[in-house]
Amino acid sequence: MTTARYPAAPITSARPNRDYPGAIIVTVSCPLCRKGHVHGLPSSQPDSDGTFGHRVAHCTDRRGGYYVTDPAGQVQADPPQPSTTPPAA
Ligand SMILES: [Zn+2]
Repeated sequence: MTTARYPAAPITSARPNRDYPGAIIVTVSCPLCRKGHVHGLPSSQPDSDGTFGHRVAHCTDRRGGYYVTDPAGQVQADPPQPSTTPPAA
């Protein structure tokens, strides 16, 4: 398991990233400090290992990290909404 070295941080909420269509912004429950941290994810599709990738924790001076997971289906339950395409330059 690629997640063996790092704890899992479950997603507690997810919303579309207005600035990057298809990307999402998630809040995770940090396994290190128990607070919520916000991360951007490039898409609502998990990686091949079933997680949403490793992130550096915001609370440990970059000495800790975790894998973003979605055990409650927050991402699938609240998929990114279609956004307007920015006008061509
Ligand atoms: Zn934390």
